[in-house]
Amino acid sequence: MKPFAYVNPANEKDAVAALSPDYEKTLPIGGGQDLLARMKDYVTQPDRLVNVKNLDATVTRVNGGLKIGSAMRMVDVAEHPEIARMYPAVAAAAIEVGTPQIRNQGTVGGNINQRPRCWYFRNEEFVCYKKGGNRCFSPQGENQFHAIFGDGPSYIVHPSSLAVPFVAYDATFRLLGRKGERMVKAADYFTMPTKENVERENVLAPDELLTHVILPAPGNVKSGHYEVRYKASHDWPIAFATVLLSMNGSTVQGARIVMGAVAPVPWRSQDAEKALAGKAVTPQTAAAAADAALAGAQPMSQNAYKVQVAKTAVERAILQAAGLPIV
Ligand SMILES: Cc1cc2nc3c(=O)[nH]c(=O)nc-3n(C[C@H](O)[C@H](O)[C@H](O)COP(=O)(O)OP(=O)(O)OC[C@H]3O[C@@H](n4cnc5c(N)ncnc54)[C@H](O)[C@@H]3O)c2cc1C
Repeated sequence: MKPFAYVNPANEKDAVAALSPDYEKTLPIGGGQDLLARMKDYVTQPDRLVNVKNLDATVTRVNGGLKIGSAMRMVDVAEHPEIARMYPAVAAAAIEVGTPQIRNQGTVGGNINQRPRCWYFRNEEFVCYKKGGNRCFSPQGENQFHAIFGDGPSYIVHPSSLAVPFVAYDATFRLLGRKGERMVKAADYFTMPTKENVERENVLAPDELLTHVILPAPGNVKSGHYEVRYKASHDWPIAFATVLLSMNGSTVQGARIVMGAVAPVPWRSQDAEKALAGKAVTPQTAAAAADAALAGAQPMSQNAYKVQVAKTAVERAILQAAGLPIV
C-alpha cells in the first residue's frame, strides 16, 4: 500500500478543511471497509485520509422527520427504535447489509459513498472508464452482476443498500464544503454515468463531506423492502426493492417503487407506480406492477436472470407493504 498521511479532526469543519479539491488526493474515511480494501488493491491511492468518525453519529427529530448523522454505524441504524418505527424499510436495509462485523464497523456516510463492486473496477489491471480508461469491460466480459438498466457507458450497479430506501423516502443529504453547506435530494445525489462524468457515482465534490441524511415526516405510508441474495449473509443483493404505499382504504393512492442493484443509481420506476395507483393490492396487481417495473430492462449476455429476480423483489415488496402473504 502506498504510504499516506492520516488526519483526525474533531469536528466537521476541521474535517472539511483537511480535504483537497483534487479528486482522490485526500479521502474521508469512516469505517474504512471499502476504502482500505481499494487502497490495498491499488485501485485508490490517496495521499491523505481524513477520519470522519468524529462527525455527528446521532439521530435527531426535525420537522416531524429524522436527521441521521453520517458517522452513525449501520448496526445503530438497524437497531434504532425511531428509525424502525418511522422508516421500517431503512432499518430493514441496514440489518441486511453484509455481516454483523460489517454493520458494526461501517458508517452511513461510507455506505452511501462506497465505490462499485464491479470486478473490473476492483482489479488494478483493468483500466476501465471509472479509472480514466476508455472502455467498460463488462459488455464483452463477465457481466452476471452488472446493470440491466441505464445503457452504459459504464454498467456498474450502485452498491449501497441504504441508498435505495433513502431515495424511496425522498431523503435529503446535507453536504458540507469550504463554501458552506448544500442540501441535495437523494434522488439527485446519485448520477448516471455519461462520457463526461463516468468516473463518479454522485455529485459530491472532492472537498465536500456528506454529514447528514434528513428524512421527511413519513406520513401514513406502508412499506416493504425485499432483497434477493445468493447467500443469506456476507454478500450484496442480486436485486432488491423498496416500496412505499399511501392507501385510501384498500386502494393505492400513491406509490414509490425503487430498485437496487439493477442500475448505476437507485432505479425508481414510475411506470410501476402508475400501474398500482388507483388499484387494490392483490397478487395480480402486484405482479402487473412488477412487470411494468422491468419492462425497459436491457440485460447483457449473462445477466438476463436478474430481470426475473428484480421482478420478484418488486412484487414481494409490494405484497409486504400491503400486509399480504408472499406467494
Ligand atoms: C462481504 C461484504 C458484503 C457486503 N454487503 C453489503 C450489502 O449487502 N449492502 C451494502 O450496502 N454494502 C455491503 N457491503 C459494503 C459495506 O457495507 C461498505 O463497505 C461499508 O458500508 C462502507 O462503510 P465504511 O464506513 O466502512 O466506509 P469507508 O470505507 O470508510 O468509505 C467508503 C467510501 O465513502 C467515502 N466516505 C466515507 N464517509 C464519507 C462521508 N461522510 N462523506 C463523503 N464520503 C465519505 C470514503 O472516502 C470512501 O470512498 C459489504 C461489504 C462486504 C465486505
